[in-house]
Amino acid sequence: MNSDELLARLTAIRDRVTVAAEKSGRSGDEVTVIAVTKTHPATTVARLRGTGVADLGENRIQEAATKIEELGHAPWRWHLIGSLQSNKAAQAVRLFDVIHSVDTLKLAQRLDRVVADDPERGPMRILLQVNVAGEASKSGFDLRGLDDGERWERFLGAVREIAALPHLVPCGLMTIAPLADDPEQVRPCFRALARIRDALREHVPDRDWRELSMGMSNDFEAAVEEGATMVRVGRAILGDRDTAPRP
Ligand SMILES: *Cc1c(COP(=O)(O)O)cnc(C)c1O
Repeated sequence: MNSDELLARLTAIRDRVTVAAEKSGRSGDEVTVIAVTKTHPATTVARLRGTGVADLGENRIQEAATKIEELGHAPWRWHLIGSLQSNKAAQAVRLFDVIHSVDTLKLAQRLDRVVADDPERGPMRILLQVNVAGEASKSGFDLRGLDDGERWERFLGAVREIAALPHLVPCGLMTIAPLADDPEQVRPCFRALARIRDALREHVPDRDWRELSMGMSNDFEAAVEEGATMVRVGRAILGDRDTAPRP
């Protein structure tokens, strides 16, 4: 895909985001489109320069490290959207601007220590990943919704400890909805995440909880209508990963 095609696709996606945002009484500017570049080589990603995209999402540390070396850190903002093992926390902190996949108190504590050890870097922005659909195959804090009293109390306990960590800036929630042909099937997941965020604002008011990272190529409009502030879009921008051109 060349730069013109990428620009056309991105323009179409931004238009759809704007329409969806307006349905929820917001402006399209309040939603960040993260281009998910996993599996695509740096040469392809470089073509996003000049399209107005500043935010890139990767799900593997090693792959991201190679790409960031080739493409540079700035002017991009790199988002880790895949799960993170504790032993790679230091690498993740060096590479990424935002980590969307913090899914345990233990991982947050580890990240906090790693950031503390690095005098160069300021506080690390993180999102807490929530498994709202309760899928066994997905990571994330296990929380189906607010009616789930026991899980909610457990989650809130962890969130309060995370919010008190001095070197992290927890700024919202992230979820990966189940695969579905029809976005309407996953809309309840997006709605549930937004409600959890609203409840956190009430119960843990010392942090901002502004961000909702939800929605991918096939369902980002429903996510934006339900309040997404960040959508993670791969295939709709860069094409199918299976047929991605090799460098
Ligand atoms: C791959 C991936 C995406 C992007 O998916 P598309 O269907 O290509 O838009 C979004 N979020 C996460 C966590 C991913 O791993």
